Amino acid sequence: MRFDTRLVRLGQEPEPGTGDVVPPLHLAVTYERRVQDPPRYFYGRGENPTREALERCLAGLEDARFAAAFASGQAAGMAALSLLPRGARLVASDDVYGGTRALFGLLERQGVRVEHADLSDPAAVAAAFAEPAAMAWVETPSNPTLRIADLADVAGRAHEAGAVVLVDNTFAGPALQQPLRFGVDVTLYSTTKSIAGHSDALGGALVCDDERLHRAFTAYRTAAGAVPSPFDCFLVHRGLRTLALRTGRQVANAARLVAVLRASPHVGAVHYPGLPDHPGHRVAARQMAAPGAVLAFEYLGDAEKLMDRLRLFTCAVSLGGVLSLVEAPALMTHAGVPPDVRRALGITDRLVRVSAGIEDPADLVEDLAAALRPTKEGDEDTEDEA
Ligand SMILES: *Cc1c(COP(=O)(O)O)cnc(C)c1O
Repeated sequence: MRFDTRLVRLGQEPEPGTGDVVPPLHLAVTYERRVQDPPRYFYGRGENPTREALERCLAGLEDARFAAAFASGQAAGMAALSLLPRGARLVASDDVYGGTRALFGLLERQGVRVEHADLSDPAAVAAAFAEPAAMAWVETPSNPTLRIADLADVAGRAHEAGAVVLVDNTFAGPALQQPLRFGVDVTLYSTTKSIAGHSDALGGALVCDDERLHRAFTAYRTAAGAVPSPFDCFLVHRGLRTLALRTGRQVANAARLVAVLRASPHVGAVHYPGLPDHPGHRVAARQMAAPGAVLAFEYLGDAEKLMDRLRLFTCAVSLGGVLSLVEAPALMTHAGVPPDVRRALGITDRLVRVSAGIEDPADLVEDLAAALRPTKEGDEDTEDEA
C-alpha cells in the first residue's frame, strides 16, 4: 500500500461481528478475563483497542514496526527522555520547541547533561558528536526560523558517538518527511498538530523499529499514566485519514503566501525552506517531499498591529491544522526564551510565524496583502524604507 492509502486503511479493519467500518470508541477501562489466563487486555491504562488502531496507522506511515500513542507531544517527549540515566549527555538542536526546553530543564535537575548545538551546521554537528552522547534530539525544520538539519548526516555522526537519535517531526509531519528512512531511531510527533489537524485533540506519539526502545516507551507510559484518552485517539485517527489532502493544500497555500511576502516592500527576510536562497534549501529538497505549511517573516512595521489587521488568519499558537494561524514568536511561543538566546536564534520582535491552513488561497492572499499594505494608521508603524 502507498502512503495515501495507508492513511485511510491501516488500523481500520472492519470490526468482527458488527462489520463497523470505523474502529469503535472503546471506553472500558477494565476487561473481563479468566483469572488464570494471560489477558490480551488487562487495564485501560495499559491497553486500549481504540488506541491500538491509531498506533497501527501511525507505525505504518513510516513503515515502522512500532508506534506508541501518548497523552500529548510533551508526554511522548518525557517517555523518550526517561531512557537517560543521571550523567548522560544529551545533544539537542539549539532552537528546539519551547516545551522541549522545559522538559530538558526537568532532566537537568535529575543530573542529565543537556548541550545545545546548531544542528543545521555540519561543522557544529561534527563537533557536538566528537565525544560520546546518549541521545541526539533533532528538530527540522526548526521553530520558528525553519532551519534544516541534514538527517542522514546527524544520524550517522550521532550513532558514531553512541547516541539514540530522536527527531521531533511535528513541523513537517509524516506526509512530508519520514526520519526513520534516514537512519533515525525514533520519530516523535505532537499529533495535536498536523496529524489530528483540526485543533480539537491533544496527543503525541513515538514511532520506532527497535522493540527494546518501544517496550521502554510503553512501560514508561503505563507507569507514569501518560495515556491518551480513547476519545482523543479516535479524533486523532479520524483527522489522520485526511493528512495527505490537507498537507497538499497547506503547502500550496504556504507557497502562495510566500510569494506575496516576497513581493511586499513592507517585509524583510522570509524564512521558508522552499525558497532557493534559504540556507537549508538543498538539504530540505533531498529529505522532504515538500517545504511544509509553516513559514516566518520579518515585518518592517509593528508585528502586533499587522496581526490585528488580519481578518481571516487567526492569531493563535499551534500549527499544522485546517485554520491558518499567525503568531509573533517573541511575544507568544518564545516569550519564555531568554532575550539573548532569542536574538542569537534570529527571533526578533518583528518576526511573524504563519501556519497555512486549507482555506481558499485567494482569500488568504487577499487578507495578507491588505494587512501588509500600510493604511493611514499603518503608515505610522511602517518604517521608512530609505
Ligand atoms: C506542539 C509541539 C510539541 C508538544 O506537543 P503537545 O501535543 O502540545 O504536548 C512538541 N514539539 C513540537 C515541534 C511542537 O510543535
